[in-house]
Amino acid sequence: MPTVLQEVREVQDEMVALRRQIHAHPELGFEEHQTGELVASRLERWGFEVARGVGRTGVVARLQVGRGKRRLGLRADMDGLPITELSGLPHASRRPGLMHACGHDGHTATLLAAARVLALTRAFSGTLNVIFQPAEEGLGGAQAMLDDGLFERFPCDRLFAFHNSPGAPAGHLGIRAGVVYSSSDTAIIRIVGRGGHGAKPHLAVDPIVAASHLVLALQSIVSREVHPNELAIVTVGAFHAGDAPNVIPAFAELRLTVRARSEAVRAMLRDRITAMAHAQAQVHGATAEVDYRWRYPVTVNDEGAAAFVREAARELMGDAALIPDWPPGTASDDLGLMLQRVPGCYFNVGNGTDEAPGQGGCPVHNAGYDFNDRILPSTASLFVRLVQRYLVDV
Ligand SMILES: [Zn+2]
Ligand SMILES: [Zn+2]
Repeated sequence: MPTVLQEVREVQDEMVALRRQIHAHPELGFEEHQTGELVASRLERWGFEVARGVGRTGVVARLQVGRGKRRLGLRADMDGLPITELSGLPHASRRPGLMHACGHDGHTATLLAAARVLALTRAFSGTLNVIFQPAEEGLGGAQAMLDDGLFERFPCDRLFAFHNSPGAPAGHLGIRAGVVYSSSDTAIIRIVGRGGHGAKPHLAVDPIVAASHLVLALQSIVSREVHPNELAIVTVGAFHAGDAPNVIPAFAELRLTVRARSEAVRAMLRDRITAMAHAQAQVHGATAEVDYRWRYPVTVNDEGAAAFVREAARELMGDAALIPDWPPGTASDDLGLMLQRVPGCYFNVGNGTDEAPGQGGCPVHNAGYDFNDRILPSTASLFVRLVQRYLVDV
């Protein structure tokens, strides 16, 4: 009997070609029409029951085999980023200003490879749902799929997904229970003063001075109010005000990204940032308008599900492939919203450490990045094993 890895090797060339085709034609969040159609048509050809347009451009496909009662979800994301690719690789983006700089092309092709093998071998018993999510990069694709009844229409008892990790050895696995990614929220703070002549500050209310005090005050939340053992990040990424040296503008705008690793700290940061904005504005005779956008929650892996992935990985690749003590990341991912509904595990797969073009070590969201095709077969094999181990008659 062929091993799972041998079965995946049969479809490897086809799937790597597909990965490069997707890479060359990136699409932004909620615009994944070509990518989604490519995914949907293949899955249909392989015998899956396919639903298009789940969460606008998302695709979900179901394959039921045997009498097993369990239902398993595997998820990949499909969107690219607004970056001009500078990798110089033959399959580089053909679309100026757009790039698969986070490896979602690789996630999609890897999940397709697993789906292909599972449809060919049908060596499981239960219901497999493969979920191709749109718009992970900040636009809320997971929420769109949930709003479209994802788990009501395609119930899942467990959910698994992976993200590639440049800087970690190719194909090695980072699997952890509990928090794996941080929350990510955005605050848009508008400090409203009264505009006037730069030579007559006593007649104006200067929003730049008020906003400057606020920027500094915000830094004391993390250093003085959050427990030192907790992670919290408050970054003011944009500060816009004024145009001319001799004009006091009417308002100033700050844009913040805020991160935490617990929902309690996340809520506390929101409350304190909002309160400080109003208080600092008031001290300077201005007012504050706070538009706090509650975006991605903390991504939390279920302990049992993480142990399940670790066991499957150990069996398939041996202990040497497991990276011990994989730390939680400060980045975020909206898979966290799905994992609030279905227990599961989001694991990391090393993309390589060599930063030379095409070797996998270049960081994500960088113009030189590329998904490492050498991690596709082993990761697809792990997906296959997760399905074979979970979808059994019980
Ligand atoms: Zn990304
Ligand atoms: Zn990503």
